[in-house]
Amino acid sequence: MYTKTYSSYLEPPNSKPENLIRLLRTWAEINTGSRNIEGLEKFQLLIEEAFQPFPATVKTIPLASQEILRPEGRQHFSLGKAVSIIKQTNASMSVLLSIHYDTVYAVDHPFQKCITTDRNNMNGPGVADAKGGLIVLLEALKLFELSPWSDRLGWEALIVPDEEIGSIGSIPLLLEAAKRNDLALVFEPALPDGSLVGSRNGSSVYSAIVKGRAAHAGRDPEKGRNSIHAMAKFIVQMQEAFRPHSGITLNVGEVIGGGAVNVVPDLAYLRFNIRTRNAEDQAIVSKVTEHLTSCLNRMEGFEIEINVDSSRPPKVLDQETIKVLNHFNDCGQDLGIQIQWRHSGGASDANIIGSVGIPTVDGLGVRGGGLHSPDEYVLLDSLSERVKLTALFLMKLASGDFNQSLNVR
Ligand SMILES: [Zn+2]
Repeated sequence: MYTKTYSSYLEPPNSKPENLIRLLRTWAEINTGSRNIEGLEKFQLLIEEAFQPFPATVKTIPLASQEILRPEGRQHFSLGKAVSIIKQTNASMSVLLSIHYDTVYAVDHPFQKCITTDRNNMNGPGVADAKGGLIVLLEALKLFELSPWSDRLGWEALIVPDEEIGSIGSIPLLLEAAKRNDLALVFEPALPDGSLVGSRNGSSVYSAIVKGRAAHAGRDPEKGRNSIHAMAKFIVQMQEAFRPHSGITLNVGEVIGGGAVNVVPDLAYLRFNIRTRNAEDQAIVSKVTEHLTSCLNRMEGFEIEINVDSSRPPKVLDQETIKVLNHFNDCGQDLGIQIQWRHSGGASDANIIGSVGIPTVDGLGVRGGGLHSPDEYVLLDSLSERVKLTALFLMKLASGDFNQSLNVR
């Protein structure tokens, strides 16, 4: 039941919409491309500062470097640091709140500034994905901590620097955090119509090197082993094998190889992304890639080396997650907004967190669109709206006000 009790805790003066918009503009204009370590470090200090006033332990955690196979061989890329904020209580339930602070825009990308295009629309890098979501997370926790129910719920916030490149360094932290908590809230942008995200496709990125043997293309073609031909066949065979399975999509995004056309090329490189809908799809992908790899390795004169650069399993919509989504729907009704949920083809850290089996709701960030492009925008009224939604959810959860209880450990 929504009473005056809750509404009086949803509007303190420091969460005025104009303050949130100003903060979002400042944050979005600090470049935090996943590979911009300097920018990430600068921003990470701001996150630490923002969480300092909370009665919680703020910790910065360095991540192991990311290994990617390139045509020149295995290469290691440094990653930014994760920030963990843990509030411990004697409460029987605790919630994980998570989002990333990296963006897809590199430091030399032309898209670096925010422009207010109309009263309710701001175009800018990461305004929706996901700095808007980070503000929602932060402000909702502030409201919750000022409410009378703050000691009745433990929480942990985990803010990671590498989601846009597959969270490869953050995966162990996300898994540990998920195991410590009873349910998880992820602050990726809401879908364009305002829906939350109940389920997501799985997504894995692979890099591979195919080695053959160089030879003169006219004089000794039979001595050569054409790595590009073998790679092309490998791609087509994957496509054929996945065709009957509508939940699996393959996208070869990068191909490098060869040089002079009178030389049989001895090296080809490819990088590809495979998306899956469920665990069965995942199993098919593993079987097919392993089978094709071993076939190629058995061919005389050829060798293929594959690296999994990142991997996130599909996020499924289970019964417990539906219960939590229904609670969000209740909170939405109290606030006069309709909250629905849908499937999204994109992966997020909710895929990793949800894999440990705790109910996980995603898309709790701002409403917006044009993600991963210079058209990215946020609908400004959604900042306060989504702060209230999550704050109200936390208050009701802490006060035991939901009619359908959650199965907590
Ligand atoms: Zn994102």
